Amino acid sequence: MSMYDAVVIGAGPAGSMAAYEIASAGYSVLMVEKHKRPGLPMCCAEGVGRISFEKIIDPKPEWISSRIDTVRVVAPDGSDVSVAYPGAGYILERPRLDYDLAQRAVAAGCRLECETIGTHVDGNGDRFESIELRRPDGERVMVKAAIFIAADGIESQIARRAGVANAVDIEQVESILEYRVENIDLKVDTIEFFVGNDVAPKGYLWVFPKSPNSANIGLGIISDTKRSEEAGYRLDKFVEKNYPGAVVTHKTAGLTPKYQGKKMFRIRNLLAAGDAARALDSLTGAGIVNAMMSGKYAGAAAAEYLSDGVDGYNKLDNLYPGRFLEVKADELSLYLKLKNVYIRLKDDDFIDIIKALREYFTENSTEGINTGRLLAGLIRTRPRLIRLVKYLL
Ligand SMILES: Cc1cc2nc3c(=O)[nH]c(=O)nc-3n(C[C@H](O)[C@H](O)[C@H](O)COP(=O)(O)OP(=O)(O)OC[C@H]3O[C@@H](n4cnc5c(N)ncnc54)[C@H](O)[C@@H]3O)c2cc1C
Repeated sequence: MSMYDAVVIGAGPAGSMAAYEIASAGYSVLMVEKHKRPGLPMCCAEGVGRISFEKIIDPKPEWISSRIDTVRVVAPDGSDVSVAYPGAGYILERPRLDYDLAQRAVAAGCRLECETIGTHVDGNGDRFESIELRRPDGERVMVKAAIFIAADGIESQIARRAGVANAVDIEQVESILEYRVENIDLKVDTIEFFVGNDVAPKGYLWVFPKSPNSANIGLGIISDTKRSEEAGYRLDKFVEKNYPGAVVTHKTAGLTPKYQGKKMFRIRNLLAAGDAARALDSLTGAGIVNAMMSGKYAGAAAAEYLSDGVDGYNKLDNLYPGRFLEVKADELSLYLKLKNVYIRLKDDDFIDIIKALREYFTENSTEGINTGRLLAGLIRTRPRLIRLVKYLL
């Protein structure tokens, strides 16, 4: 049986960040990835907020397809608001980012095995001691380690088999259908969101520019069999209407789970990060930055645990998810509440809110967005929105 200090399952952004932290601290780490190479196949709209992304890593130019300076939201009646927000975000080159993050971990000393599946961890009832891996030739091997990181995305079989009740309830996920669309004309610095019952019931549709002539166009809706079946029809209708002559070159579908609190992040010496821990923004389904950040914290906690030996086990909960949630729990909980409000908005509410936003943004520069003032103003001028406040409490 081979032996490492740590084993990381999944070479997505969460896993690679974790593996990098552990390897950089001088510990032996094995990262396994079930696909042929990290980053492929890609299932993502590739949008990130610039500030939060740059807090985690210094971006390389080749990770970025386009730089976003304007956010436009379109109401069901076609009215819209465009908010100029220089440096708001990036549309990434996700396969490149994932690949480079994995290589960065390898350069720090991590061993990466692709086409290798982590099946389950095993232990003595107190701690997990080994993991079974299935290699590309079908051979099953056990690998021993002192700590394990489940960064295996939304499926997260590893944490589930270890005892985390993370089975995805249909009401707790958003179904996403996404097209890569070419042969279109668009503003490369503007992301657009379309809301309302016709275009995206209980969800939203986005256009994220990859270049002046191509975009990721996607529809995210709360899962429900009927609505999910209609997603393709709605997305086709949107593309045909707004981009005649467009060519859809790639289609992908996936799920984004909602944040479910602390219990998803750790079981004994198995730490879950990224989608595996449900560390997503529940309002938008954005998870890249949270995956990187939770992976980084999980990796740092694993390194500290390894350096502390026996004492480390008692401190583990404080280290992770403690330190990560200290920074992130309020934000993740707020987005979950906002989602509960969002799914209750009717077309008239969207029209009203977008009108109010237009008024707000003509008076205020985006540098000075004050969310509290904005919400207070919205509720004062649109009293019928008060009915939704209870979902924020
Ligand atoms: C259609 C779609 C669009 C999205 N758009 C955005 C967006 O625009 N912006 C944003 O911020 N977020 C977006 N997200 C969410 C984002 O993609 C995820 O939050 C992010 O990828 C999470 O990273 P991760 O490392 O936790 O998991 P993943 O990126 O899913 O990586 C997990 C890795 O583990 C591997 N793996 C799984 N099981 C095993 C196993 N048993 N053994 C070995 N390897 C395994 C997988 O192959 C994968 O490489 C989108 C999601 C979807 C579905």
